[in-house]
Amino acid sequence: MHRFFVAPECFAGDRVVLPEQIAHQIRKVLRLRAGAAIVVLDNTGCEYEVLLRQVDRQQVVGEAVAKRPCPNEPSVYLTLYQALMKRDKFEWVLQKGTEIGVSHFVPLVTQRSLVQDIDIKEGKQLRWEKIITEAAEQSRRGCIPSLHPPQTLAEALAAQPPQPGLIAWEEADGLTIRGVLGDGERPSHVSLFIGPEGGFAAEEVAAAQEAGLKAVTLGKRILRAETAALVASALVMHELDII
Ligand code: SAM
Repeated sequence: MHRFFVAPECFAGDRVVLPEQIAHQIRKVLRLRAGAAIVVLDNTGCEYEVLLRQVDRQQVVGEAVAKRPCPNEPSVYLTLYQALMKRDKFEWVLQKGTEIGVSHFVPLVTQRSLVQDIDIKEGKQLRWEKIITEAAEQSRRGCIPSLHPPQTLAEALAAQPPQPGLIAWEEADGLTIRGVLGDGERPSHVSLFIGPEGGFAAEEVAAAQEAGLKAVTLGKRILRAETAALVASALVMHELDII
């Protein structure tokens, strides 16, 4: 069944009026008719089974016939602090990270980031949010991951990232993600820091460790930054997300 996130205001009791962009997709792209069933999500973690009652040029209206908690949200809240990279690679991380289970993205400006501009244009923010929303719909998430405005690494560390915090560093002394997460109590939040194409500077890693983060290895081979983000996110999910 096709899935769509809408704002909670679209609901009035059981009646849901689909916003224009989704209405257009339903009518013109998917060519659904009255009587078809879709899934609508209001980004609170619940999903509604909706039967389309009116599909015409004026509006697309549905009736919610069932409501249930979405079973697909990860059981750990993963914040991915990702150093800014070239546009296509960064957007790839947003899309695939959403599929894997990241709940919150924080774009980072680090010493060696190719992109040093902390102010992003509104158009880019909207484009990134659209990529995340579509990936959340496609991967059957119950909530859309949130996107923080870009920060410097120093700002992110000063804001005290949720612990346990991991910083992937190719010179880490052999500590693995399993080594940090595999023992003891299962944490509800994890922070994961991934560097830019040129990697983190040693003093950045020292500052992160000072802030309580653990430097972890992702293995003997050096991964591209976008590969590292997805491998490390998947390893966190593998350790902590109950299937
Ligand atoms: N400049 C580094 C070099 O050439 O040796 C490579 C940096 S790597 C392309 C980009 C980021 O991915 C790193 O900052 C780190 O966060 C992560 N990364 C890649 N491979 C890793 C590994 N084997 N262990 C830990 N982190 C890794």
